[in-house]
Amino acid sequence: MIKKLLIANRGEIALRIHRACQEMGIATVAVHSTADSEAMHVRLADESVCIGPPNAAQSYLNIPAILAACEITDADAVHPGYGFLSENAGFAEILEAHDIIFVGPKAQHIRDMGDKIAAKQLMRAAGVPVVPGSDGAVTNDDAPAIAEKIGYPVLCKAAAGGGGRGMKVAETAETLLETLATARAEARAAFGDDAMYLEKYLGTPRHIEVQVMADAHGGVVHLGERDCSLQRRHQKVLEESPSPILPMEQREQIGAIVTKAISTFGYLGAGTIEFLYQDGQFYFIEMNTRLQVEHPVTEMVTNIDLVREQLRVASGLPLSFAQSDIAFSGHAIECRINAEDPRSFAPSPGRITQFHPPGGLGVRVDSAVYAGYTIPPYYDSMIGKLIVHGRDRQECIMRLRRSLREFVVDGIKTTISLHQDLIEQPDFQSGSYDIHWLEKYLAGQ
Ligand code: ADP
Repeated sequence: MIKKLLIANRGEIALRIHRACQEMGIATVAVHSTADSEAMHVRLADESVCIGPPNAAQSYLNIPAILAACEITDADAVHPGYGFLSENAGFAEILEAHDIIFVGPKAQHIRDMGDKIAAKQLMRAAGVPVVPGSDGAVTNDDAPAIAEKIGYPVLCKAAAGGGGRGMKVAETAETLLETLATARAEARAAFGDDAMYLEKYLGTPRHIEVQVMADAHGGVVHLGERDCSLQRRHQKVLEESPSPILPMEQREQIGAIVTKAISTFGYLGAGTIEFLYQDGQFYFIEMNTRLQVEHPVTEMVTNIDLVREQLRVASGLPLSFAQSDIAFSGHAIECRINAEDPRSFAPSPGRITQFHPPGGLGVRVDSAVYAGYTIPPYYDSMIGKLIVHGRDRQECIMRLRRSLREFVVDGIKTTISLHQDLIEQPDFQSGSYDIHWLEKYLAGQ
C-alpha cells in the first residue's frame, strides 16, 4: 500500500485528496508555490515543500521541482488531482522511471485519450457510439468535401483540444475554411499542435458523462452518469446525478458499453467518458483520464469514495466493490462557486473577510478557503463546490436553495447569486435544458 503521497495540486482538490489519505492512514506531502504558503492544503498536510514562484509553469507544472520534492520527502506516490499535470503522459512516465507511483492510468492511456482523433477511433472500434465526423485530421483540401458529407453546421475541433479552445462552428460552406483557420491558429497557440478534425454540430444536445473505474484484477465498473449540460463557454457550471432526463434502462445500456470498451483497453483507475446526448442517442466526445471536478455528485449517490478507490488501485489492490454492489440512491447536485462577478464573470481575487459554509444533512462543501484567506490572482477562479444530496431531485433542489441562502462569502464577489437565480428557473426545475440553455439565459438577462 502507498505509504506517503505527494499531492501535486492546490485548492479544494488538494484538500479532497488529503482527506482520503488521512482516512486510509497514508501520510501526505503538499507542494506549493510562494503565493500559496498560507493555503489550507499546506497547513493540513503532514509535510510541505515549496516548489517555485506563483507562475504555475514554474511551480505546479514544474516536473523537476515536483520530482525533487518526492526525493526529499521520500514520497512513494503522486496524485495529480485535475488540471495541471493530471493528463501529462510524460509526467506519468518520468515518475514510473523513478519508481514513484502515478495515481492514474498508464501513460499510454493518457496519450491515446489526449489525442481526440485517436480517442474517437479507439472508442468507435470498441463499440462506443461517436459523433459523425471526419475519420481523422483534415486539410484545407479535403475539409470542404468532408464537411459537405457530414452536413452543416460542422464543428472544427482541435485534436489536442481542452477547455473549449480550438473549437469553432462553421455554419456554411462559405465560412468553412476561414473558421478552420481561426480554430487552427487558436489550437496552435494554446497547445502547440494544430491538427484539426470535423464533427457534426449537434444543435440541442445535453452533456452526459459516465464515471468508470478499473483495477488490475479484472474489476471494471461504471458508477452511473452526471448531467453537466449547464455550461458557459464550454465550462461546466452546475452538475447533477442522475440526469433528470435519462431513462434508467439507457443508463444501464451505456454503462455496459463503456465498461466493455475500457476493459478492452486494459484501462486502470478512474476515468470519465463524455457524451453528447440528443434525441435518445449517445455520441462520444472525449475521455478524461483523471478525477473530475464534479466527481462528488457520483460519490453522493453511490456512497463510494472515488479517491480512496484510486489509491487502492494505484497500490495494486482490487476495487473494494463490484458492479452489483453499487446501489444508486437519491439525487445530487453540485454548484461550482467561483470568485467572479456573477454578471460579467470577471475574476474577483482578494481577501475573504467572512466565510460561513452551509451544513446539515446531505450538504457537502469542498473548499480550501477560509475567513482571512487572500485568493491569489494567478490560478483558476473556482474557490469551492457546494454539493447537496436529497432522496429525490425535488428534495435536493429545496436543500440546495436553503444551502445557497446560508452560504456567506464576504470581501470578494462570487457566483453564489447566479446559482440562486438558476435553480429558480422553471426550465431548470423541470430538467429541460440543453448545453446552450445557460448562455441563452445569461444573454436574456
Ligand atoms: P474540450 O476538451 O475542449 O472541453 P469537448 O470535446 O469535451 O472539448 O467539448 C466541450 C463542449 O463543447 C461540450 O460539452 C459541448 O458543450 C460542446 N461540443 C463539443 N462537441 C460538440 C458537437 N459535436 N456539437 C455540439 N456541441 C459540441
